[in-house]
Amino acid sequence: MSKQGYIDEAEKELLHTYNRYQIVLDKGEGVYLYDTDGKKYLDFAAGIAVQAFGYGKKEYNDALKAQIDKLMHTSNLYYNVPIIHAAERVLKASGMDRVFFTNSGAEAIEGAIKSAKKYAYTRDGHAGHEIIAMEHSFHGRTIGALSVTGNAHYREPFEPLMPGVKYATFNDLSSVEAQINENTCAILFETIQGEGGIYPATEEFMKGVRKLCDEHDILLILDEIQCGMARSGEMFAWQHYGVKPDIMTSAKALGCGVPVGAFLMTERVAEKSLVPGDHGTTYGGNPFVGAAVDKVLELMEKEHLTEHVKEIAPYLEKRLDELVEKYDFLTARRGMGLMQGIVCEKPVGQVSAKALEEGLILITAGSDVLRIVPPLIIEKEHVDEMVEKLEKVFQKMK
Ligand SMILES: *Cc1c(COP(=O)(O)O)cnc(C)c1O
Repeated sequence: MSKQGYIDEAEKELLHTYNRYQIVLDKGEGVYLYDTDGKKYLDFAAGIAVQAFGYGKKEYNDALKAQIDKLMHTSNLYYNVPIIHAAERVLKASGMDRVFFTNSGAEAIEGAIKSAKKYAYTRDGHAGHEIIAMEHSFHGRTIGALSVTGNAHYREPFEPLMPGVKYATFNDLSSVEAQINENTCAILFETIQGEGGIYPATEEFMKGVRKLCDEHDILLILDEIQCGMARSGEMFAWQHYGVKPDIMTSAKALGCGVPVGAFLMTERVAEKSLVPGDHGTTYGGNPFVGAAVDKVLELMEKEHLTEHVKEIAPYLEKRLDELVEKYDFLTARRGMGLMQGIVCEKPVGQVSAKALEEGLILITAGSDVLRIVPPLIIEKEHVDEMVEKLEKVFQKMK
């Protein structure tokens, strides 16, 4: 079938919840994707910060194939071996004590919210607790996750949402402090805001919120769904700051293509939180995703992926800074590791659409940011190729 044939068919069948780019992706190899016409693309989006190893990673594919032949699913009524290995690795990497595996990021956020509420309920002997979330945050599209997402445009049609959510300004400690009251059970934010426009938390904010949480017995929940799993140069971005969350979430690159997320907590929280009957999922943490998570974490460690990110990121930053210097419609660069954004005064949707014509896959964040979240295995030559392609796009838009 022709590309247009596929697109027409998809638009008849799929619920129209996305304005998709007009390409049909067919296969991938390394940091390159190919569409059904055989056109090659350099991928600097990684399926939205998911494909840490790019495409066709042999050890990962082999592990999944072997697990498919052995056992895919059993339900959580029984134990299974791959998820035990995966849990051990993710707890070691995070320094957390307990993990619950979910099927997506939004579902990990749901679990984190329930965990915090249950902790406060057990401690205080009553319900009615509140959560402080941030403006411009993004935590997912389910009702609970939407309730803590700081974009009124996403929330409005679905109100009333979960009550008891207050919003503060990210990186503004006094705005957080102003929202705290005796019912506050948790403060939730992304260590590096992703969809909102690539804003890393400042050290002052991280340390300040941690201190407020300690003073008021409030739980700090960090959403590491996009910025975690080595992307920032540490396995989890909060590890740059010398503070530790009480609850954290992961997803996206946790499975590197297999739908899986997780919420994790310290023993102190777990002791007063969810117990049998409080939470569950049919698929979550089945043997198949367990094999994926186990292999992803094994390979990240074996291949020193955080070290690689630390090595390559300064070069990416330098090349992006050069662009910001050269083009007056590029006004700033922000980010950490291989999670970078450039603020662009030209319509970013047009830039990313034109980038496709040049064979470059690039996504946006917020209304004016070009988001750079490539596979973590990129080398300098890929950064150069990306910059070259992007400059061709800029020339065309002058
Ligand atoms: C993508 C994302 C989510 C939601 O994850 P899904 O798997 O799409 O449900 C939540 N938080 C952050 C920071 C994300 O980037």
